[in-house]
Amino acid sequence: MNCWHCDRPAHGVCQFCGRAVCKSHAQTMPHVVAVYRSKAGNPMVIATDNALHCGVCHPKDDPIQLDSLDE
Ligand SMILES: [Zn+2]
Ligand SMILES: [Zn+2]
Repeated sequence: MNCWHCDRPAHGVCQFCGRAVCKSHAQTMPHVVAVYRSKAGNPMVIATDNALHCGVCHPKDDPIQLDSLDE
């Protein structure tokens, strides 16, 4: 797979949209890996602050409500 921007061999894949990017075009962005409830009932988020981002797609700032997880 080649870089979305320059068509050279890619080093990784955007965590948000799946586009492939090389090191020189890769960017980073915080990425939520998992959301769960703690034993005390508090919503908890596991996040990484430098997930690979292609620089093309625009992950939404606001959470999107899911109608259903049973797809
Ligand atoms: Zn590139
Ligand atoms: Zn992307």
